[in-house]
Amino acid sequence: MPSAEIITIGTELLLGQLVDTNTSSIARALAACGVDVHRETSVGDNEQRIAAAVREALGRSDIAICAGGLGPTVDDLTREAVAAAFERPLVLHEPSLAYIEQRFAQAGWAMAPNNRRQAMVPAGAVVLDNPHGSAPGFVVDDGRRIAIALPGPPAELDPMLQELAIPWLVKRFDIKAVIVTRVLHTLGIGESDLDERIADLFRDSRNPSIAVLARPGFVDVKITAKAQDAQAAAPLIASLEAKLRERLGDSIYATDDGSFEQSLGEALRARGWSIGVAESCTGGLIAAAIASVPGASDYFKGGVIAYADDVKSRLLGVDRAIIAKHGAVSEEVARAMAVGAREHLHATLAVSTTGVAGPGGGTPDKPVGLVFVALARPGDKTTVRRLTLPGTRGVIQRRATVAALSMAWKAAR
Ligand code: ATP
Ligand code: MG
Repeated sequence: MPSAEIITIGTELLLGQLVDTNTSSIARALAACGVDVHRETSVGDNEQRIAAAVREALGRSDIAICAGGLGPTVDDLTREAVAAAFERPLVLHEPSLAYIEQRFAQAGWAMAPNNRRQAMVPAGAVVLDNPHGSAPGFVVDDGRRIAIALPGPPAELDPMLQELAIPWLVKRFDIKAVIVTRVLHTLGIGESDLDERIADLFRDSRNPSIAVLARPGFVDVKITAKAQDAQAAAPLIASLEAKLRERLGDSIYATDDGSFEQSLGEALRARGWSIGVAESCTGGLIAAAIASVPGASDYFKGGVIAYADDVKSRLLGVDRAIIAKHGAVSEEVARAMAVGAREHLHATLAVSTTGVAGPGGGTPDKPVGLVFVALARPGDKTTVRRLTLPGTRGVIQRRATVAALSMAWKAAR
């Protein structure tokens, strides 16, 4: 990608009399087409300082875009300064002179001799027509360095920038004009496992490129394509997405803005299933996640926050003897909580958690981070996962929540 600097010209800017809006217009237009802006400068109406600013910018960057100072008056010096920076003379651009003369004639004004100056451009420059004013803009390209001069008034600058200057740059640097992204959200694969599965695609893909972004419990794979337009980007994205789905298919739960809770809800709704929860160490986080989706009442039955042992037994029917024998944080209790929740809440699926969220309460046998999550399903099939989770209390609780929800999602999908 080429680099650019923006130079706004005008003593009014340095005196604080004029708020510079041209820099942000130009910066946004360059960002939108992938040109990196490295620096923004303002200089006064002084030929030497403008020429120095252009030379310095082009010593660092490929492109200098100048705004302002193209008018007819003695303080409009950008033409001279750019010509000096490239050591080229100014030459008369006949079509621009004819255009300026015609503008004056049409308006019935007498044309002052200094208006001829506006038709002067550095030798060899590409002229950018200005249908909204009299001074044309121009581009000087010596094959290595490029200066673009645009008029100061935004009503003249903006159309010239969008319609002439940016398209010129896009063509000159063969810039792919749009950047389109697509995110595949995955769950249940660790970041390094995922890396391994897609290492070759990751290595070989330049456009579109792949980025891997990990969040607790989830890994996102982001595809970024640059193309002339959205239509040209679509097949680039689609073909890489298809390859990624072959490798990761069963772990992708949503794309772009889709959330995990939403995907779980859609999967449950599609099957006509319902879900209930029995939570100890997650303290209601699972229920809150399920309920965060609009329309969750279609499939969410409710839950029991069974923190105390006697709530586990009285409200979920967990046998006291099991708790006494194995302890509240155990595979057996997690299983009994899920089965009990499924029965008592009349739900198709039920998930449960029991664990040591810390920071206190850990023992050598049952350290902080030990969490059992269980899923009860129709046909008395119950699955329990034993997790040893790193992190603070909040992180352990969130990871346990994700683990429980993902068990339900895999069953419902
Ligand atoms: P003109 O032919 O009008 O003199 P010019 O190309 O010489 O155009 P300047 O003389 O630098 O441009 O500025 C003319 C007017 O354009 C300013 O008075 C101001 O209204 C606007 N302008 C110039 N620079 C900026 C800027 N950076 N941000 C916003 N407006 C600007
Ligand atoms: Mg001026």
